[in-house]
Amino acid sequence: MRITIIAGARPNFIKIAPIIDAIKVSIIGGIDISYRLVHTGQHYDKNMSESFFKQLGIPVPNVNLECGGGTQAEQTANIMIKFECELMENPTDLVVVVGDVTSTMACTIVAKKLNIKVAHVEAGIRSGDITMPEEINRIVTDSLSDYFFTTSRKASENLLKQGVDSKRIFFVGNTMIDTLIKQRTKFIQPEIWNLVGLEEKNYIVLTLHRPANVDGEYKLKELLEEIEKQSRGLNIIFPVHPRTAKKLTEIGFTCPNMYFVEPLSYLEFNYLVEKAKCIITDSGGITEETTVLGIPCITLRDSTERPETVTVGTNELIGTDPSAIAPCMNILFSDKWKKGDIPELWDGKTSKRIIDALINLSV
Ligand code: UDP
Repeated sequence: MRITIIAGARPNFIKIAPIIDAIKVSIIGGIDISYRLVHTGQHYDKNMSESFFKQLGIPVPNVNLECGGGTQAEQTANIMIKFECELMENPTDLVVVVGDVTSTMACTIVAKKLNIKVAHVEAGIRSGDITMPEEINRIVTDSLSDYFFTTSRKASENLLKQGVDSKRIFFVGNTMIDTLIKQRTKFIQPEIWNLVGLEEKNYIVLTLHRPANVDGEYKLKELLEEIEKQSRGLNIIFPVHPRTAKKLTEIGFTCPNMYFVEPLSYLEFNYLVEKAKCIITDSGGITEETTVLGIPCITLRDSTERPETVTVGTNELIGTDPSAIAPCMNILFSDKWKKGDIPELWDGKTSKRIIDALINLSV
């Protein structure tokens, strides 16, 4: 079986690393399986791409389509044009896409138009918020895919409701957590630790990159002011996503205990997360990691496609109104944050389950 694996953006790299590891184990075990890794180039900065390949031991991609930048439509179109050539020159039996980024959707459309089977890893999750580009990517990808690997029973149910045949849905767990569990003993202290003099459980990590929080004229400033006000003077470390960086320069926000840093490498970022008092974020993947690490997580969004991080894990969804931050911080600072549990099958063995299922299907 020949598999083409797609990776385009930061969260993709974390999700594909263990899948490639599982394929390598099958190859060593004598299974007739091979893979070709396609990087679409959606994220291209060194600290949004290259550092993940190095730290997570991901092989150098067979090809980089270099489709960074542009509007949603420009990027989708560029990826589609280049991926079509790639597939014609390098025939495959199956395209594996992960997550919900533009590359996931664009490559799925191209593969299906060439009558190639597609497996979607992290299928079926839904926020119900169609204003999120990721939700559109999820809906389109899941309406075309052949095999669906899900992170939760809820995601499988969403697919069943959509009319997907249950035989094509595989509840396997979370490949992002495979990576977390494998790398947990190797986290690296980032430079900022000593520069600021950070102490365990005595600082906050902040990440924001969703359009609803960072694109508006005043929203970002209001949120940052309120987070600072409610932080009880703790240091706040804010690794700034490239799409947020521009807005931050425009609003010119500064405060003495908030440190804006470049996006961190995976091992450095999760070192900070594991020792933090709490994380404030609008990321999806980070709510899953904090759930497994048992760290309080405050999500500044109105909806989540990962409800198990709230119902089972340590995440609270508080919306994007700054006034919701104070009550939440009161709970945190009175040490009454929920302890949380680990969602079903988030056990570090998901990628093996995926590859075993694909081998059984003999696509
Ligand atoms: N991450 C990282 N460095 C950072 C911020 C995040 O390595 O400075 C990792 C984080 O551990 C998680 C992933 O990036 O695995 C989440 O990516 P992002 O928030 O961009 O995407 P989302 O999950 O919201 O789709």
